[in-house]
Amino acid sequence: MKYEYIAYNESASDDELLSDLKRVCTQCNTGGLTMKQYSNYGKYDCSTFLRRFETWNKSLEKAGIPLTQQYWTEENLFENIENAWIRKGSQPRRRDMDDKRLSHISSGAYLRKFGRWSDALKAFVAYINAEEAIITTHDEEQLIGASHRTARDINLRLRFRVLQRDNFTCRACGASPAKDPSVELQVDHIFPWSKGGETEIDNLQTLCSKCNQGKGNML
Ligand SMILES: [Zn+2]
Repeated sequence: MKYEYIAYNESASDDELLSDLKRVCTQCNTGGLTMKQYSNYGKYDCSTFLRRFETWNKSLEKAGIPLTQQYWTEENLFENIENAWIRKGSQPRRRDMDDKRLSHISSGAYLRKFGRWSDALKAFVAYINAEEAIITTHDEEQLIGASHRTARDINLRLRFRVLQRDNFTCRACGASPAKDPSVELQVDHIFPWSKGGETEIDNLQTLCSKCNQGKGNML
């Protein structure tokens, strides 16, 4: 029996092996695929892949599966929700996270971290609504100097609040990624930071990259 089992493995074509990897990856729905996951649901022995494709990662690569499971930081995950939200123009659904045009981190990564998609959204909203942290690093304090109360950089939290207030549309021309996916929104200082403007919600506005560039040229 053992001999037949190995023979069966070895007789599988590369395509058969790779399509079984893809099948299991889809079934697990976790973005990547570990050897452990594959050995639970796969048709072939993991060692067959190693013999055929040298390493597990190379096997995944050949099958077009993202390399192993990536462990995203909370900041990565929230930033990606923010992007999906902007591109969609409204709160993303779980399946939106598997749409490559909206999101580069799959819904599986959120489910691993938060359990349910609704809990991921709640965590994101709580993060956005949390009180602003005071400027943290010493370097930043030095950069700000005496002329500013705030740092120039607009953090994720503030950026999202501005975009949401402006309905994810350019305040100059009304363009939005939800209507035209090629539109890129930026958050801009109304009164430039370099001239003493602060990084505060009232001094920030949403502009598309074209209008923002136009504004820059005018100054
Ligand atoms: Zn615009």
